[in-house]
Amino acid sequence: MLKHLSRTTLSLVAFGFFLSTPLNAQTLAIRNVTLIDGTGAAPQTRATVIVEGNRINAVGGPSVSIPDDAETIDGSGKFLIPGLMDVHVHVPGSIVRNGKGDVVRPESRSKGIGALHSFLYSGITTVYDASNNADYIFQLRAEERSGDLLSPRIFTTGSAITFPGSWGAGPNSTLVDSWPDGKNGVDVNFARDPDIQKITYENFGTGANAWVPSFPDDIITNIILYAKEKGVRTTIHISDEAHARIAIAAGVDTLAHPVVVGRMSKDFMPIIIDSGVIVTSTLAVFDNIVRIVDAPEFLNDSLFRAVYTEEQIEEMKTTAGPRYTSIGWDSWFKTTLKYSMENVKRLHDAGVTIALGTDRTIGPLTHRELELYVEAGISPLEAITIGTLNAAKYLDREDDLGTIEPGKLADMVLLDADPIKDISNTQLISAVFKGGEEIDRDALHIPRNQK
Ligand SMILES: [Zn+2]
Repeated sequence: MLKHLSRTTLSLVAFGFFLSTPLNAQTLAIRNVTLIDGTGAAPQTRATVIVEGNRINAVGGPSVSIPDDAETIDGSGKFLIPGLMDVHVHVPGSIVRNGKGDVVRPESRSKGIGALHSFLYSGITTVYDASNNADYIFQLRAEERSGDLLSPRIFTTGSAITFPGSWGAGPNSTLVDSWPDGKNGVDVNFARDPDIQKITYENFGTGANAWVPSFPDDIITNIILYAKEKGVRTTIHISDEAHARIAIAAGVDTLAHPVVVGRMSKDFMPIIIDSGVIVTSTLAVFDNIVRIVDAPEFLNDSLFRAVYTEEQIEEMKTTAGPRYTSIGWDSWFKTTLKYSMENVKRLHDAGVTIALGTDRTIGPLTHRELELYVEAGISPLEAITIGTLNAAKYLDREDDLGTIEPGKLADMVLLDADPIKDISNTQLISAVFKGGEEIDRDALHIPRNQK
């Protein structure tokens, strides 16, 4: 029998309440379900999935034998997909602004927990935080891994590396202005065991964004080579092809965004294909602004109403939209959304691995990312693979995560309707399982449960 974790310590100390599950109730069988396993294989009807402890033990048809002690769920009329994964988020709550600049004070932790719970509620069982206050996010990661914090699985860079004055430079970033002197700061980051080190490589000077200084080519190359030497995987913020080319030539493992400021050149395609880099899609970050301006009715959808307060929804509908228009964001983000969608579709068609990332931090927008793939011309079945197996590949964790296959961690979402017929049906959630345990969605720290 596979080892399983005791969840008796699963608690939410931050809120003074305690969740626990029976120590030995660890065999779960879901039968007669339509299985979409995340590999891209066609849906399997009348499937049986057996979970022992926190891992999947067997997957098959109606003839798979169900252990006598199993808790059995009848999946008739339902659809089972792997837990969704969002590999570009920023967990809020670490920064308090004082009017003069950012003061790093991790004291609004409940905000962060609320965001993490919005993911769990929405069926996202893994996130990668692509830059934050390192103390704050590594603490959350440690608590999630020890079982002390109910949360999606947290992967993170901790602090991102950037050039002084560049995009992302602030109290939480690691500034490198020369090499090899900059190694010291980089070593501090690496000592904290980032899952993937994020690097910001950006000039802007486009659309709503003013020009900013960026790493000289030799420094960015040295940082990437040094990470490779130390066995640390890397992801890089770029928005244009020129920067992407230099990072890829240096051997970066993944891109934290596609090219967003225009169409990729024909010449670039074979370079990106041959490099094997995985590209995070981040369509929702642009789309969200566009929709708040043009079609804020989406905020009435049930997932959004569950994770935002009425005041937040009202603020977005009445104040945020006009503000975005006044600062020129809506037209600019319409443009970047269009190019991002085109580029993601082209890369996907060429066989480049696209991984789901939103660059946002609220569960429902992870589902929006799936809808945008389908709007871009990607099939719903492939969209689900992008949001599961491909995201696990981005993290280099496909041995444990991303599909419903024997041996994997039992992170799964049971749906009430067919996501292949309509990708929006991923939002019709019946149950969420993380490590073989059903999440009590009514007990999560989100506005829906606090009314
Ligand atoms: Zn980001």
